[in-house]
Amino acid sequence: MTKWVYLFKEGDASMRNLLGGKGANLAEMTKLGLPIPQGFIVTTEACNDYYARGRQVTDEVKAQISDALAELEKEQGKKFGDNENPLLVSIRSGARASMPGMMDTVLNLGLTDVAVEGFAARTGNPRFAYDSYRRFIQMYADVVMEVSKEKFDVVFDAVKEEKGISLDTDLSADDLKEIVKGFKEVYKKELGEDFPQDPREQLLASITAVFRSWDNPRAIYYRRMNDIPGSWGTAVNVQAMVFGNMGDTSGTGVAFTRNPSTGEALIYGEYLINAQGEDVVAGIRTPNPISHLEEDMPEVYQEFMRIAHLLEDHYKDMQDMEFTIEDRKLYILQTRSGKRTAHAALQIACDLVDEGKITKEEAIKRIDAKSLDQMLHPGFDDKVIKASTPIGSALPASPGAAAGRVYFNAEDAKKAGDRGERVILVRLETSPEDIEGMHASKGILTVRGGMTSHAAVVARGMGVACVSGCAEVGINEADKYFTLGGETIKEGDYISLDGTTGNIYLGDIPTVEAGISGNFDRIMHWADEIRTLKVRTNADTPTDAANAIKFGAEGIGLTRTEHMFFEPDRIPKIRKMILSSTAEAREAALEELIPFQKQDFKGIYEVMEGRPVTIRFLDPPLHEFVPTAKADIEALAKDMGLTYDEVKAKCDSLHEFNPMMGHRGCRLAVTYPEIAKMQTRAVMEAAIEVKNERGFNIIPEIMIPLVGEKRELKFVKDVVVETAEAVKKEMNSDIEYHVGTMIEIPRACLLANEIAEEADFFSFGTNDLTQMTFGFSRDDAGNFLDAYYENKIYESDPFARLDQDGVGQLVKMAAQKGRATKPELKLGICGEHGGDPSTVEFCHNVGLNYVSCSPFRVPIARLAAAQAVLNNK
Ligand code: PEP
Ligand code: MG
Repeated sequence: MTKWVYLFKEGDASMRNLLGGKGANLAEMTKLGLPIPQGFIVTTEACNDYYARGRQVTDEVKAQISDALAELEKEQGKKFGDNENPLLVSIRSGARASMPGMMDTVLNLGLTDVAVEGFAARTGNPRFAYDSYRRFIQMYADVVMEVSKEKFDVVFDAVKEEKGISLDTDLSADDLKEIVKGFKEVYKKELGEDFPQDPREQLLASITAVFRSWDNPRAIYYRRMNDIPGSWGTAVNVQAMVFGNMGDTSGTGVAFTRNPSTGEALIYGEYLINAQGEDVVAGIRTPNPISHLEEDMPEVYQEFMRIAHLLEDHYKDMQDMEFTIEDRKLYILQTRSGKRTAHAALQIACDLVDEGKITKEEAIKRIDAKSLDQMLHPGFDDKVIKASTPIGSALPASPGAAAGRVYFNAEDAKKAGDRGERVILVRLETSPEDIEGMHASKGILTVRGGMTSHAAVVARGMGVACVSGCAEVGINEADKYFTLGGETIKEGDYISLDGTTGNIYLGDIPTVEAGISGNFDRIMHWADEIRTLKVRTNADTPTDAANAIKFGAEGIGLTRTEHMFFEPDRIPKIRKMILSSTAEAREAALEELIPFQKQDFKGIYEVMEGRPVTIRFLDPPLHEFVPTAKADIEALAKDMGLTYDEVKAKCDSLHEFNPMMGHRGCRLAVTYPEIAKMQTRAVMEAAIEVKNERGFNIIPEIMIPLVGEKRELKFVKDVVVETAEAVKKEMNSDIEYHVGTMIEIPRACLLANEIAEEADFFSFGTNDLTQMTFGFSRDDAGNFLDAYYENKIYESDPFARLDQDGVGQLVKMAAQKGRATKPELKLGICGEHGGDPSTVEFCHNVGLNYVSCSPFRVPIARLAAAQAVLNNK
């Protein structure tokens, strides 16, 4: 029989996949003899079984839950639903990877009309008992039965008003009894049934709700952003309640064993006296720093510090702990590896190596490669910021600088982000429902909440700048304005946030490139020692190339030559070339383009100082270049000595129903070989000149795009070789050069063995390969992919994370077939996937020589390539 339920004492840290991270750590801490409120874990397999059976919990699982509960009752000396000493439990989700705030929690479960009396008698505190009961009814209705919290707030506020009370704490036990009565009426009205009086029914419904929450939209979104497979499922933790809200000798808090923003090796945390856990996380009250606890309760503080150190030493990583003090007794509710900024991650990794606690390899494995992105994000222009006076300041919750227009809810923020605006989301406090709006924002400002509030934790994880807990802000979310420092800021106005200092400024302050700390170089150096995969960059200009070199790029894997013509003074020239009706006119237009192109190539070769450079020949999807605006057509007509109507007619004749599958890539060179000639001339002349002038060992790599057939490649290659040889002769040079192809059409993968006969190298263009393998346009897929995520058809965007099952199979096959023909064939990837860590690992595993990605993602790829080696050891 499958074991679906484990008591804490039956598990340990090695059972993470089955028990979830939270459950496995609770089990481990129990083994270590720490003060953990006991409980049991319903496994991730039970969650998967629930979905496999069409959302049904089997009798077998129910029976095991019941047995575990009986065991817990025995252990605690309490009974579920008892009228003297009732057992109360919390229900929390806990997946294999931590997903903070993504799934729902129920506290105080087990309270009923009878149990609340028992609880009141036992604690001698009826006020507290009824307060717990009303919280439970509201939370249960919200999380389990999906009745909105606001329905209950109406009753709550009405009682407060009737009694003339402004603070919740002034409500008496009788007031709370009245509120409980009102809440039960709301429950009945909304659901047509009484609030359940059988705690076992409450328990089962809550466990089912946690299973169900694994598939709520915000969990699906979080998984997509963090590469967490839906097949993992979540475990459910059922844990005896302890109470931090039993008066001034109780409290609750959250602490990190090192500073999660900076990595500083000092315990860092916050707590609230007389509060329940959710109060700290939700940021409704602003908490005290942990150091205050030494004054408030010195023995508890000592005990806490002892356990914090013990846990960090045990797990050899920075821990994020939740604790509760119930009447001066400390309990640890959970521990996990703490989320941290990239800056802190590097600091902690280096410190742990220096402290002799972990090896360099372990340090490399620990760092979330994607998070390096944060370090590479902008700060403010120093001069401008020094001359600016903040209008306010609050907690520096997530580092980085951000400037943008203010929006007051997630939906508006997302819409503005989609319009391409820079957005600052301003909220009273954030909640998990805000996640998409937060993600669309450059910065987040909240009125409430500490450093461990939802906004802070989530923003840090996302690398979005965040300033939290700014109580001076007078916010009106409904009318969309806020006041601060004597200013009134309305929706659409610009503000600037410094998530590193906590300062808030009026207006749009310019930002500058990110700075990188010494730890960064150290970690990158370790990664470079380990990795075998090379990392190149996609760069179209000398500036991009120089930037990429700073980030450690070892070459250029893709220069998109059509991108060299996006600038306003150049675009008319390429349009002229595209719209030419005769070979002579085209050649004349090309003559105008050559100097630009050659100059750019020279600039790139100079910056790259002999590192490999792959130049991809023209691949302009025509719709990006053919003019549509009247003024552009008029200007072009004048320049070409034609009438407006003639140019317009030519543009119309070039119209394609599906430009992405149209007359682009090598098809252009097949119809107009003079284009390939011109580009070859520019590449070769530039390379020979820079080689002669600077002495770099340059071997140009010419790459032909969109090839699907060996003869197609051969046709273009013959033009290239003929021109290149002519240039060499003219310039009296013996320079070597390579001609290769992109592999970005499924047919090219199928026939890679033949294509390899004509190619010196392959570079996988996984943008087009994804488009053509899935059969949906890379420009339009965004319009419908959301529905695919919501319906769990796809878990991630196949244009961001390589579809290893499908597209990956083609890549693997083409690599094998290519190398079967030519064992020395050089293989790379230059689609956007080249900077995605999971794709980097895939590329390592299938034996590519290099990945190529945008300059800012080069460090991510370097780290991911090292992790790929370590993961395969
Ligand atoms: C690709 O298709 O993956 C590629 C790199 O080329 P482009 O994005 O320019 O089509
Ligand atoms: Mg392509």
